[in-house]
Amino acid sequence: MPKHADYVDGIVRAMSIKYNNLVYEMKGQGTDVIVLSLGEAFFDIPLYPFDDLPYPDIYHYSHSRGIIELRRRLARYYAEQYEVPVDPDKEIIVTAGSKIAIHMAFMAILNPGDEVIIPEPAWVSYPEQVRLCHGIPVLVPYYESMMEIEKYVTKKTKAIVLNFPHNPRGLVLPKEELEYLHTLARRHNMYLLADEAYSDFLLDEDKFISSGWHDRAKEHSIVCNSMSKNYGMSGWRIGYVIANSDLIFQILKINEHLITCPATILEHYMVKHFDDVLAITKPQILDVVKKRKVLATYMDSLGMTYLPGTATFYFFVSIEKSRLTSEEFCTKLLTDHHVSTVPGLGYGQSCDHFIRVSMATESMERTMYGVRMINELISMTA
Ligand code: PMP
Repeated sequence: MPKHADYVDGIVRAMSIKYNNLVYEMKGQGTDVIVLSLGEAFFDIPLYPFDDLPYPDIYHYSHSRGIIELRRRLARYYAEQYEVPVDPDKEIIVTAGSKIAIHMAFMAILNPGDEVIIPEPAWVSYPEQVRLCHGIPVLVPYYESMMEIEKYVTKKTKAIVLNFPHNPRGLVLPKEELEYLHTLARRHNMYLLADEAYSDFLLDEDKFISSGWHDRAKEHSIVCNSMSKNYGMSGWRIGYVIANSDLIFQILKINEHLITCPATILEHYMVKHFDDVLAITKPQILDVVKKRKVLATYMDSLGMTYLPGTATFYFFVSIEKSRLTSEEFCTKLLTDHHVSTVPGLGYGQSCDHFIRVSMATESMERTMYGVRMINELISMTA
């Protein structure tokens, strides 16, 4: 029998997806699971008609950069929201979700053996994507300050990955730290790849500054974002990447050989209903982030600890007092208490005494119950 490529053996599964698949299986068998493991918010969004979308164009491939109307709308969004100018003709590609956008960006910038600095907790796919591109992920333990990151830079460092607002910390990076990272990028001739998938999940008092704002000429910045989180439309698989025209051209070639274009019908739908959907989801986003604040107070009252943050709908909760590893903990929580969370180990070796709790898919009552079960299991296994 032929053997698959050796390097794929070294790739680990996405921990969050692995646990969510277990949830789907348990639910399929009729078990009522409290789902605190999903990486998305469930919003009420109406389904607008499809029959007035441009026929027959919707049946066919679209422009491989994405339809120009959507590129223009997204460019305007980045300009209006984050004061980042984007040329819709040359500086943006619409792709099938931001996961592939990030991957194609890695493919476009990494030579074999190049290093990418990834702060932990690290979203599950960054290190594996770097490995898939024959690069070397350099993981920085969660307790290390961003201001210390230069000590991880070597001659081989090609990029630093930023993810703010952060999954799973809920952190928005302070302006000075972001500025400092841009200084580092210039000093060492590296890219900053900013994954801004949660850019709208903020309290009113939090100010999010796009990484692109510090480098409007896009000399070293790559920004990825998507419709999945901010619009609650993860299943539509629409994301985008913004960079300078030269790099976008390199990514375009990869895009043309991997996916051609996202689903044309969804691109047209998105253009037509962009503002309607936004008007509907924005208040719901704010509700979620406010709910997060309430849950934080509740966890504080139980004496639970988690990494500091105010944005997104995640908590990275400490299970340090438990003797279980994060995988043992999450498995026990799921099988014995029917509460699903994601093991911290999926976010890096330094994170095995954390679990990720996501609070945007269940009612507050069920979420609080789930949190109480976490706290009880910590005590029971101390
Ligand atoms: N980045 C982060 C930090 C995420 O949490 C996710 C989804 N879990 C993605 C990127 C990818 O999202 P999508 O491909 O749906 O745009």
